Amino acid sequence: MPRPMKRRRVCCLPESSRFGPLDSQTNAGCIVNMTIDEYETIRLIDLEGYTQEECARQMNVARTTVQGIYNCARKKVAESLVNGKDLLIKGGEYRLCEGKEERCRCGDCWKHRCGRAQVRNKDNNSEM
Ligand SMILES: [Zn+2]
Repeated sequence: MPRPMKRRRVCCLPESSRFGPLDSQTNAGCIVNMTIDEYETIRLIDLEGYTQEECARQMNVARTTVQGIYNCARKKVAESLVNGKDLLIKGGEYRLCEGKEERCRCGDCWKHRCGRAQVRNKDNNSEM
């Protein structure tokens, strides 16, 4: 029986889920799908300056796992940049951090929640 995959903790969903070249109409249909957990490693390591060890702790997985996710994520970014493909960020084996979790030190899990668009729809009056 296969071991159930450990869900990776993600503290921050992307503000946008789709990126791509703005000056080209020729890439229709060329999409690179990045998962949310891959996105999180890019955010933590490349943007926040975490080491892979720190990133692994933050996401609650083994360092070797993070290494694999991160390599995969980088490759997809490169593929999008170099080959002019759209980057679509969605899916993956992750669970969203609820904030104030044990060992979570992001401190702003809720600040950057993507679902913000959905929150706005649900709660239109207070946000505007
Ligand atoms: Zn968090």
